[in-house]
Amino acid sequence: MFNSQNLSINSKNHLTIGQHDTVELAKKFGTPLYVLDEDLMRASCRAYKNAIDTYYDGHGLVLFASKALCTMYTGRLVAEEGLGADVVSGGELYTLYKAGFPMEKVFFHGNNKTPDEIELALTCGVGHIVVDNKYELELLNRIASEKNVTQRILFRIKPGIDAHTHDFVKTGQIDSKFGVALENGEAYEIHKLALSMSNIQIDGVHCHIGSQIFDVEPFCEAAKVMISFISDLYDKLGIKVKILNLGGGFGIKYTSKDDPLEPSEYIHKVTDVVKALALEKGIELPFLVFEPGRSIVASAGITLYTVGCVKEIENVRTYVSIDGGMCDNPRYILYGSKYTTVLANNASAEPIAPVTIAGKCCESGDLIQEHVMMPKIHVGDTLAVLATGAYNYSMSSNYNRIPRPPIVMVSGDEAKVIVKRETYDDLIKNDVLEEARVLQGTV
Ligand SMILES: *Cc1c(COP(=O)(O)O)cnc(C)c1O
Repeated sequence: MFNSQNLSINSKNHLTIGQHDTVELAKKFGTPLYVLDEDLMRASCRAYKNAIDTYYDGHGLVLFASKALCTMYTGRLVAEEGLGADVVSGGELYTLYKAGFPMEKVFFHGNNKTPDEIELALTCGVGHIVVDNKYELELLNRIASEKNVTQRILFRIKPGIDAHTHDFVKTGQIDSKFGVALENGEAYEIHKLALSMSNIQIDGVHCHIGSQIFDVEPFCEAAKVMISFISDLYDKLGIKVKILNLGGGFGIKYTSKDDPLEPSEYIHKVTDVVKALALEKGIELPFLVFEPGRSIVASAGITLYTVGCVKEIENVRTYVSIDGGMCDNPRYILYGSKYTTVLANNASAEPIAPVTIAGKCCESGDLIQEHVMMPKIHVGDTLAVLATGAYNYSMSSNYNRIPRPPIVMVSGDEAKVIVKRETYDDLIKNDVLEEARVLQGTV
């Protein structure tokens, strides 16, 4: 009945995740609470890895897109499953490095990497840097030569596929802050420039066409464009591209209206296109890289809240206020994202009326969902929001000085904290106040 097979309802009529009663988890660890199912996250990693093995003879690598959820524990988990990772900042890079992640399997993205971040990447021995533009290329070559290393790179290409809408349309391809465009010759020119650089080795090309995409066609289309470009690079510049990185963006089921394919189906279809085209163009099969983030971790996560008040405004709407909000899940206020919400302590009760689930921040727009059909809700109830494993913790903030919730990882009958709840002292730890002016003993 739920989006994800690890969710169910027990004899107490409580929502369960894996073997765990969510109401018990809320009691034990407090709310708001992120809960993540380790077994499901590992299964998703394996599904991708197996798909590459099955449909592409293992000649590829799946990277977990760290920005979906970046913690030391999940970094290590991903490495244990044999995946690589992509990072988009020095902070994500540092997190993986400290978790002991194999750095040669890390790809570093970003449209404006700072000199410090590039330094850090080279010092940590990052496998590949995905270079965005010519300024970065020059900066990287300079830093690499100072360090006397040759850095392997991919270029980020705009393949001219706009897949943000369901009917993907090939417009606005140049209008993106990421990467270099094909149609104005920019991508070709940057490869030519890189050939003249002493401390750069071109290993591949990369593209990423968007996120939460359900159709497989945009991915196949992107693969075609990229293979043609790879073939051109060889013909015109003699560059042998080894790696084709097609990015992430595979959609997941947030509500019953969403109908994504299995990861293996995306990989199957895309690899078929790559194989056929490589044969046609007479090029070697590239080492294929995919970068799923959301589809590895979103469904493995839920968020639990406690209801603090219920305001029935006659002929207007009913607000149900919970003890979190945009600070732990900014996706509704940012994108109007849809979620499935469940009354965790009365999980099979029939929905009776639409409610708006509101956060506790001082913003009218701080909502988690609007007009969702729910059973009768009472103060003190536990509310679950499903599929919050991706882009929730990683996008959370301390707005209104609200401490971030902890992440509890469940696996089998075990439940453990992998990220601690922030404290008020965490919130003020970087504040600077002259000693003499600290008011003592006021709290
Ligand atoms: C965001 C991003 C991803 C992951 O996207 P998902 O939709 O989470 O799969 C992968 N690669 C790049 C370059 C990205 O920016």
